[in-house]
Amino acid sequence: MQGGTVAVIGGSIAGCAFASAAARAGADEVVVLERTRGRLADRGLGLCIHDDRSAELAATGALPPGIAAHRLTRRRWVVRDAAAGPAGRTFWEQPFPFHSYHWGLLWSGLREATPESVVYRQGAAVTGVAAGGDRARVRLGDGAVEEYDLAVGADGYRSVVREAVSRTSRPEYAGYVCWRGNFDARRLAETGEADWPRDAVTTVCFEGGSCVVYRIPGPAGSRVNWVLYAMPPQSGRLRLDDPTSFPPGRLTAELAAALPELLERDFPPYWARVISLTDAEHTFVQPIYDLASAHTTAGRFLLAGDAAVVARPHTTSGAAKALQDASAFETAWRRSGSWDELLDAYRAARGPAGRELVALARRLGRAQVERTPAWAVMDGRAAQAWWRDQLADAADIGGQAMTAPKPAVG
Ligand SMILES: Cc1cc2nc3c(=O)[nH]c(=O)nc-3n(C[C@H](O)[C@H](O)[C@H](O)COP(=O)(O)OP(=O)(O)OC[C@H]3O[C@@H](n4cnc5c(N)ncnc54)[C@H](O)[C@@H]3O)c2cc1C
Repeated sequence: MQGGTVAVIGGSIAGCAFASAAARAGADEVVVLERTRGRLADRGLGLCIHDDRSAELAATGALPPGIAAHRLTRRRWVVRDAAAGPAGRTFWEQPFPFHSYHWGLLWSGLREATPESVVYRQGAAVTGVAAGGDRARVRLGDGAVEEYDLAVGADGYRSVVREAVSRTSRPEYAGYVCWRGNFDARRLAETGEADWPRDAVTTVCFEGGSCVVYRIPGPAGSRVNWVLYAMPPQSGRLRLDDPTSFPPGRLTAELAAALPELLERDFPPYWARVISLTDAEHTFVQPIYDLASAHTTAGRFLLAGDAAVVARPHTTSGAAKALQDASAFETAWRRSGSWDELLDAYRAARGPAGRELVALARRLGRAQVERTPAWAVMDGRAAQAWWRDQLADAADIGGQAMTAPKPAVG
């Protein structure tokens, strides 16, 4: 299929990848409508992509070459144990074939790779969308209504487009949050201890939660990135059950105060010192949600990335999945003779994959946060069996391999 006009709502990881895919596949006009006015590249958090997924995505063009990435090969599971020393006891080490990224550098790489024909409009907040025959109508914050042949909802977990595509699908609060942060890796010297191997990820385990720590590249040298999952304070003041009630990244005074208490109580002293090296301005809180939209397309709209599926971050798959969505979209476009065929093929390719990912993410979250095992008495053999239970029939974390489209189901 050639030609047509496409709006991509949201210009983050999924949005940039979809804009490139639509332009490459042959759209006449591609417009990205991104609500943020400031620099998106300043959203400097870490994420990882599985090596097999990045190889597939590089081959399809969805992951452009040249983006800074840090190689990780193994993951060590650690628990507090005074007898083992300040860094705790490592009870298991497993392979971890991933590369870590700095969000801002990944976004910049994707943005720079969008063809010049793509119009990227910042400060363009979409307030509502409406399907009308064979058009997609998009209403902007200033009241203007624009019409396109197709609109992609790449507007994240609080998606406006999802209201039109899958009205009853809402992110469900998982019952816990993550504190996350990052800092210049040179500050590790302040702990007074030797540095850990650069290719190692550490998961610090404690009753009621876990914390993943690893290096990421940064605009000015290597950084340490961490994500700590645990229940928030149960004061009744925090409203987290509705995704619109808690601004993304917000660190309230109550949540800021809970972090050092948790580190002091549950962490091996060395890892508590590591996390404490993070400045308040680089510390964020994110409630954890589950979402597998019942529908990924409706009329001339489709959902992409976190707007369609939010898998708890334990699967380490969100960015890879967003890029896979874009890759499936481009393939579907190239093989289709009409918009309907394109939408059917996209739905068939991405619907089931999202639901399976969310189910795996729930199992991982339950095992690593909600119902943590007796880590203190665990050894490598027990940890392996525990891990296999979480995976069940999944091959690994990091997202699924891209497969041929299955028949359309929803
Ligand atoms: C703690 C945590 C750790 C994670 N770790 C990993 C990891 O290790 N590996 C991994 O692959 N993934 C990870 N992820 C997930 C990953 O970050 C996302 O899945 C991925 O970035 C895809 O996001 P997106 O582009 O779909 O949505 P978002 O990044 O949320 O982007 C949505 C965009 O839409 C814009 N927007 C929203 N509403 C509107 C509107 N109405 N009008 C216009 N624009 C709008 C927003 O400003 C934003 O730019 C993690 C997530 C979390 C929370």
